[in-house]
Amino acid sequence: MNWVSELQTSGLKISFRIKKVLYRKRSGYQLIEVFDTYEFGRMMMLDRKVMLTQRDEFIYHEMIVHPPVALLGGIKNVLVIGGGDGGTVRELLKYSPERITLVEIDRFVVDASKKFFPEMGKVLDNPVVDIVFEDGAEFVKKIEDRYDLVIVDSTDPVGPGEVLFSEEFISDIFRITDVVAGQTESPFLHREMIAQYHKGLKKFFKNIVFYTANIPTYPSGIWSFTIGVNFEPVIKVKRSFQYYTPEVFECAKNIPPAFRIDA
Ligand code: SAM
Repeated sequence: MNWVSELQTSGLKISFRIKKVLYRKRSGYQLIEVFDTYEFGRMMMLDRKVMLTQRDEFIYHEMIVHPPVALLGGIKNVLVIGGGDGGTVRELLKYSPERITLVEIDRFVVDASKKFFPEMGKVLDNPVVDIVFEDGAEFVKKIEDRYDLVIVDSTDPVGPGEVLFSEEFISDIFRITDVVAGQTESPFLHREMIAQYHKGLKKFFKNIVFYTANIPTYPSGIWSFTIGVNFEPVIKVKRSFQYYTPEVFECAKNIPPAFRIDA
């Protein structure tokens, strides 16, 4: 029997029984692997961390996209940092934006997604999507355009994703948008990191919206997202999807005391 594991902490692993290894490549940035698993369908791992599985990726992608769009009321010009699998772009396209710019550091993530996750990867061929293969932090330093929304769909704050949680990066993002949304790890396991990130965001953005979602294959199963927004955050569009509804978003902002972050 073949199994693959993610070491979530030094004392905790999650293991998946696999049918087959579909892809394995060491790029200049990370080890990219795609497995066919028994329980979750196809799964992409980067440096042996679960990025997505076919069975539960909709939760993450809906919850990183629909809450900030609901606060904006609509989108024309969006910047996505990371997100080379295409799941975030797939959700954004549901609002018919004029332009989506995706800045992904690793072109092999995009290639692997197009081949093994066409339900996400293929949307990257949509003519409104521009893909730039570059470090997102370098990109935002020099860009002068403004965006309705910036989504940071990054890996964990280690390796190439680390810089995307820094205060310098937040200050560059602040220059180009009034709304930034991103994944902010587990409120059970990564509380210090989230507090640090919120502290940075609060220096620039007027309001912070912190909310969670249950994602079975991510460390601890409970995951968080944070929006920095420069206006009063009220829901302006009411669309529903498989996991996200305006009511689910309202509930998701009610954080249990044990998971609240003081920053
Ligand atoms: N759903 C995911 C999660 O939290 O597990 C995130 C998935 S997505 C595949 C993350 C992407 O961010 C990866 O493709 C990675 O190559 C990209 N990435 C990491 N650091 C980056 C950086 N500095 N600039 C641009 N893209 C970056």
